Amino acid sequence: MEATIIDGTAVSRDLRARLLGELAAVRSSKVDPGLASVLVGEDYAAHAYERRLRRLAENVGCRFQPERLPHDAELAEALATIGKLNADPRISGILVLRPLPAQLSEVELYPTLDPLKDVEAVHPANAGLMARGTPRFVPSTPASCFWLLDDYFRQTGRDPSTALRGKTVVIVGRSHNVGKPAVWLALDRGAIVVSCDEHASEAGRLAEFTRQADVLIVAAGSPGLVTGDMVKEGVIAIDVGINPVEGEDGRVHLVGDLDFDSVAQRAEALTPVPGGVGPVTDVWLVRNAVLAGVMQHTTLSIGPWPLF
Ligand code: NAD
Repeated sequence: MEATIIDGTAVSRDLRARLLGELAAVRSSKVDPGLASVLVGEDYAAHAYERRLRRLAENVGCRFQPERLPHDAELAEALATIGKLNADPRISGILVLRPLPAQLSEVELYPTLDPLKDVEAVHPANAGLMARGTPRFVPSTPASCFWLLDDYFRQTGRDPSTALRGKTVVIVGRSHNVGKPAVWLALDRGAIVVSCDEHASEAGRLAEFTRQADVLIVAAGSPGLVTGDMVKEGVIAIDVGINPVEGEDGRVHLVGDLDFDSVAQRAEALTPVPGGVGPVTDVWLVRNAVLAGVMQHTTLSIGPWPLF
């Protein structure tokens, strides 16, 4: 049977419409949310992400403030930028774009974010709430993976609140922003969860685990890492990877961590790159900035978008 291609762009359109409605309601209560990004250096993917966010924020009418620092910025400079954004009442949400250059450590930067503006839940307090299953903010990328899964389960007649119970979910990649919070979301759903990072590959054991996955989430940043022979028949595969690759024509295009064609031959469903997880992530992030604005400035009651 041919695999279903999960259309993240279509899902993101619905979410965008929902976000526009919420923004209108929020503004009538005098909340004016703003998202700031902090980008250090010249990473291609980080710049592309900043551009996408700017476009989306402008389209929905949310303030967007991109902060840029040179690749050799010292810790003090990065801390000063975060401090300035923490203190700015026009900014409700702050995103520190990755990757960071070697001299800046996530461990030193994240705890300095105002937890009420930490829309990616990387501050230890927010990561703790997330790990406990009571998130203040659900970080945008893992949220988007599970939003797409929930939507697909609904469309195929399964109840998303129970669909993963007793199923094996394998997550490749263990970053603070993506892999680990995806593990926590899968645990909350009663799944049997396996987390693999680069050491699983180095030990030659990655395929041993990816082949067990009923649902496979790959967020490693390694083009075509998972091939068709590494998945079982009927897997649902979510590809988070965004890897710039130079084509034969010399132009850069984006590919995922799945070897799309070979995985599609065995999968029940999978997400493409581009057009899968990415567009939903963007809307989710801007929405988290709106949620943060509401938390900071009103007694209005809106919570995280319910994942199922
Ligand atoms: P990261 O570099 O912080 O973490 C990568 C993780 O993958 C690490 O845990 C590492 O050990 C693991 N890994 C690397 N190579 C591996 C291998 N060969 N086998 C197994 N595990 C391996 O990256 P990140 O921020 O988590 O992002 C991962 C990918 O997702 C990148 O391509 C990034 O551009 C992309 N991304 C996409 C979105 C989106 O919205 N689609 C959002 C964030 C990140």
